[in-house]
Amino acid sequence: MTIETPQVQTLHADHPAPPGERLWTDALEQTRSRSPASFEQWFSSVQYDGFENRVLALTARDEFVRDWVKAHFIPDLLGHLARLAGEANQANLRVKWSISNRLERPVCQARRRTSEPPPPSATHGSGNTVGRPRSERPSRYSRAQLTAALNPKHTFPNFVVGPSNELAHAAAFASAGGGGPRYNPLFIAGGTGLGKTHLMHAIAHKVLDERPDSRIVYVSAEHFTNEFIEALQHHKMDEFRSRYRTDCDLLLVDDIQFLAGREQTQEEFFHTFNALHDADRPIIVTSDKYPQQLQRMPERLVSRFTSGLVADIQTPQLETRVAIVRKKAELEGIELSDEVAVMLAQSVQSNVRELEGALIRLAAKSSLTGRLIDEEFTLGELAMVSPRRPELMSVEDIQRAVCGHFRLSNTDLLSKDRHKSVAFARQVAMYLCRQRLKCSFPELGRAFGNRDHTTVMSAVRRVEALRQRDPQVNMHLEAIEQRLASSES
Ligand code: ADP
Ligand code: MG
Repeated sequence: MTIETPQVQTLHADHPAPPGERLWTDALEQTRSRSPASFEQWFSSVQYDGFENRVLALTARDEFVRDWVKAHFIPDLLGHLARLAGEANQANLRVKWSISNRLERPVCQARRRTSEPPPPSATHGSGNTVGRPRSERPSRYSRAQLTAALNPKHTFPNFVVGPSNELAHAAAFASAGGGGPRYNPLFIAGGTGLGKTHLMHAIAHKVLDERPDSRIVYVSAEHFTNEFIEALQHHKMDEFRSRYRTDCDLLLVDDIQFLAGREQTQEEFFHTFNALHDADRPIIVTSDKYPQQLQRMPERLVSRFTSGLVADIQTPQLETRVAIVRKKAELEGIELSDEVAVMLAQSVQSNVRELEGALIRLAAKSSLTGRLIDEEFTLGELAMVSPRRPELMSVEDIQRAVCGHFRLSNTDLLSKDRHKSVAFARQVAMYLCRQRLKCSFPELGRAFGNRDHTTVMSAVRRVEALRQRDPQVNMHLEAIEQRLASSES
């Protein structure tokens, strides 16, 4: 991503920066956007000395500054640098620190009161390639506020696409000008922790990257409501309306379900929507429900929401979850074997945020204890966090319980053996996996000796039907379920 302030562009035009310096400037901008105020504070005590041969040279005013910056900014910064430099892994990059209490060219100027004009060196200093922070743009709703609200990691390249989210991803990409039909509005619906906000941020990042002058407004519906109430109270409705209607080229509203029952805000949002829609400006909305399921939402708003494209995000399947774990590990610089990635993806099934949380916890524990993230360690950690969670149950656990009950070996269960008793046990196992783990049919087909998904589908239907009419089948199922319950506790 190359978001450039005008100051940076001027500097490049006057003094073409060496490639390392250019990468550094871009990586720095991305790191800054996460927490501009704290960034300014710490980087006024750090100096950039060069980036060559994968080594970033920095000088800190003292050890305390060095250690803080190392702990709180360097991982993120190196992540950006590695990506911009085309390095597969940020572990390939190194930082060489020096200490000096006399910094000639600190990355940021020391903190000033906002009423003071910026020092000339901030824009024209010879060595300082970092432009003035965006927060100094005159607008009240400046670019800095937008970038501070966006997670720099929530970009399109960092979003893993799978069958559960491909429509929402394609529509989001198109509405950011990425090609393909653009729908207005785009309504993204999906359960919590499945990537709706990630896609919103990705749209904003892409548009900012490609059209830096676009006026993008990204808010949660809750924030919209609060701002509206504040504007009413302080007689600032004109300002509020220009922000959302006239001064807005792209409106992104997250978690629209928050408007439920808030009639006055709904009314205001309805007019905002119409003004933008009439001007053919894109509106993207997310929600944890489909428009028709939104409670206490007026019909005219619901019909506006459905007038473009409603794209949903479902729970990702195992393959997508594994790819997400790998992507997150790569972004965080965590080394992970394929086995551990699969284990994690199997253990947390319904929420990507939780999946990510499990990975981060694992990495934190591993760095604290110095233990390698191998299968044994992962298993122990997962069990410790939630020993009784049904999500921890895997296809293998169910296969084991079924084999135990019918006195079969696992090889028999997964074999092509069509003998009646083996086939029945296999069908029961498939049924239980589908019922308890909500695995997809193709996923189950692979887990059961690479069978076709239609075979799994008919097995599940058969056992479902038998369960209703054959008490013996029911008895088998109950006995296996008891086995599973005792192995869970
Ligand atoms: P939601 O807004 O739907 O509740 P978020 O967008 O906040 O969910 O996603 C929760 C976390 O999961 C974020 O860190 C996000 O990056 C991650 N995430 C969700 N889906 C994906 C995906 N397909 N690829 C990569 N990361 C994802
Ligand atoms: Mg969200």
